[in-house]
Amino acid sequence: MIPLAKPIIGEEEINAVVRVLKSGMLAQGPVVKEFEEHFAAYCGTKYAIAVNSGTAALHAALYGLEVRTNDEVITTPFTFVATANSILMANAKPVFVDVDQQTYTIDPKLVESAITLKTKAILPVNLYGQMCDYDTLNAIAKKHHVAIIEDAAQSIGADWHTQRSGSLTAAAAFSLYATKNIMCGEGGVVTTNSEQVAELAKRMRHHGQSEKTRYQYFDLGYNYRMTDIHASIALEQLKKIAEITTKRIMNAQLLTEGLQNIHGIKTPHVTPQTTHVFHQYTILIEEEFPYSRDTFVELMKQKGIGCAVFYPKPLHLHPHFMRLGYKEGDFPIAEKLATHVVSLPVHPLLTIDEIKTIITTIREIANG
Ligand SMILES: *Cc1c(COP(=O)(O)O)cnc(C)c1O
Repeated sequence: MIPLAKPIIGEEEINAVVRVLKSGMLAQGPVVKEFEEHFAAYCGTKYAIAVNSGTAALHAALYGLEVRTNDEVITTPFTFVATANSILMANAKPVFVDVDQQTYTIDPKLVESAITLKTKAILPVNLYGQMCDYDTLNAIAKKHHVAIIEDAAQSIGADWHTQRSGSLTAAAAFSLYATKNIMCGEGGVVTTNSEQVAELAKRMRHHGQSEKTRYQYFDLGYNYRMTDIHASIALEQLKKIAEITTKRIMNAQLLTEGLQNIHGIKTPHVTPQTTHVFHQYTILIEEEFPYSRDTFVELMKQKGIGCAVFYPKPLHLHPHFMRLGYKEGDFPIAEKLATHVVSLPVHPLLTIDEIKTIITTIREIANG
């Protein structure tokens, strides 16, 4: 079986965990601080605040930007549920707009037309590891005085022009979940250049307390702290990120070369302004292909190749978002993608032979 994802866990991660266990200090402590310093330096931001999931990072970032009850936040329906759930967690309203046909990321033209007096923020998702169009999004945000939070859960190390994911907007939220490009099992990070956003995010992760004045609670907060055990893994992963990213990009290039000229298969579109870090390598199975997307997934699994669908149903068609008034037909591109995309293995531990097997298997399926 060629798995869809596989974490890289070496002696470095194992030894780092053992060091923390032997230190006797297991909760948030010096290793979290060290990880945050390295993470901020890597992203090119003033601050990085480590938390215990990507979802917590999104929630803390929204709080940091003062998204509150009845505010509107514009986002994409073609993403993982945590993106829009975090908006609900902030008691705000997710306002969906459709995605771009080529990149599957939020369509900036539609963002601008969705802005109202209640809009407080825009939450674009750097889907599959590719940056959104931040030239246009940042210009819209500036014109209408709204903030942008990158959902950077899938885009660590990606650049837009020469600027790194996490540093282009008011705040960004990363995930360190087990299958993400770098991981620690469960974890997340908020990045920002704003002292105020950083301070509010820190309060959010620690029951509303400022780190400077303990047992004084400024607001409702949560326990979103990361442990030193998790931070020790994340810190070792961060040291390997250049290698991990290069390998993913190289694997994607080999897949794209091998999958050219197959009738009914569209390989990923990479916009020239971005380095796509290929958290997922996602192809489109078009109508001309001899099998439906779902049959394709079954055939691949039968032949021992793990693949998966991100995401099989756009968010606006799930009950807790439909309750906000959304219905089928609202976002035709997202709805089409949900029934036509499939992600193939692209992780850094794939061998050249495995990549060749993936390509030949798909060519065999395409020939019926
Ligand atoms: C993984 C992911 C999240 C949530 O991160 P968790 O660490 O699982 O909470 C949010 N948004 C996107 C796009 C993701 O891929």
